[in-house]
Amino acid sequence: MISHAALSNDLTAAFFLRPDDRSWLKDLLGGQVQFDVPMERYTTLGVGGPADALATPTDTRTLEKLVSGADQRSIPWLVVGGGSNLLVKDGGIRGIVILLGAHYKGIAETGSDAARPKLRVKAGTRLSTLCRYTIDHGLAGLGFALGIPGSVGGSILMNAGTAGGSIQDVLTSVSVLWPGGRIERIEKKDLVFGYRRLTLPGWEVTPRSGEINDNRKGVIVDGVFVFEPGDAGQLKSDARRIKKERRQRQPLGKASAGCFFKNPVDHPPAGRLIDLAGLKGNRVGDAQVSMQHGNFIINRGKACAADILNLAEIIENQVLARFGVQLEPEVIIVGESNHATKSI
Ligand SMILES: Cc1cc2nc3c(=O)[nH]c(=O)nc-3n(C[C@H](O)[C@H](O)[C@H](O)COP(=O)(O)OP(=O)(O)OC[C@H]3O[C@@H](n4cnc5c(N)ncnc54)[C@H](O)[C@@H]3O)c2cc1C
Repeated sequence: MISHAALSNDLTAAFFLRPDDRSWLKDLLGGQVQFDVPMERYTTLGVGGPADALATPTDTRTLEKLVSGADQRSIPWLVVGGGSNLLVKDGGIRGIVILLGAHYKGIAETGSDAARPKLRVKAGTRLSTLCRYTIDHGLAGLGFALGIPGSVGGSILMNAGTAGGSIQDVLTSVSVLWPGGRIERIEKKDLVFGYRRLTLPGWEVTPRSGEINDNRKGVIVDGVFVFEPGDAGQLKSDARRIKKERRQRQPLGKASAGCFFKNPVDHPPAGRLIDLAGLKGNRVGDAQVSMQHGNFIINRGKACAADILNLAEIIENQVLARFGVQLEPEVIIVGESNHATKSI
């Protein structure tokens, strides 16, 4: 039996946000910080206990001060984009969750090569907004991204994609804000792309949970993408077809984080193995393996994170027993299982 500890690490279990940390955040962010905010509102799975603090800095200077100050005070922090690849556990997140506000949304043309048009896209921009922009402007290359929810920053970090391609095919560089306030532009040759994961120089990724260890954590603030000139009419009709196919294959109206498990190497896709193991429709509480797609765990309404993790554990064990294949979560699993309160 695989334990929850194996599915995720309670990395920040010993941390408590102190009253003077809360005062510092209020002084720095004013109305742009809230405390003890349920993360179920910020994840597409609709589960997750409270974040100690939820900060939405509205300019770069404030974001710099926030990550630098948090590091000086040893407060853990985590950037959340669309929350569409994130499972937050029921005890919530100790420390600060950072959302990129309006200042981090936007698309601008860059570069001068008409044959290879480039766009600089801020990390908080929705991936769907970028897709629409490229279609309207006759820029080809993002067909694989149609229908993938979430932000551009999260999509870069996840190297989001499908069998038709992934972010690494169109990304040429990223800008990263490091603690201390330095913004570094990192070219593609220095980025390490893996299956549904980009690793930046110096990053260590926690096995299985996918969380980035706290040392040298950075915020992706924008990415530069390169496209091919295309025909807007053709791109529009391709987009309609791709979205229709996605609607037929995936339970898009239900709360989920997309594919829960990575596809194993040299084996059938995870969804096929789960289907063959007879697990479609299986439930723990309100968490259910989608009848439409075996690799989607859906929240039927009242699931908690523990239900989803228990169901994931059952799936892993059954697939391992039937096919000898160890599935690994694709979703990033963060937070604590239980939140002990402490008076300081
Ligand atoms: C219905 C559905 C369908 C999906 N289909 C697909 C698919 O076909 N292909 C696919 O690849 N994915 C798919 N997904 C998963 C998800 O949409 C993608 O992984 C998406 O790119 C995640 O973006 P996000 O902004 O929601 O990231 P989040 O879930 O918010 O975060 C994911 C990770 O990125 C980190 N992060 C986010 N923003 C930043 C930043 N600016 N700087 C540093 N780190 C950051 C977070 O800390 C976290 O570790 C699907 C999800 C759903 C719900």
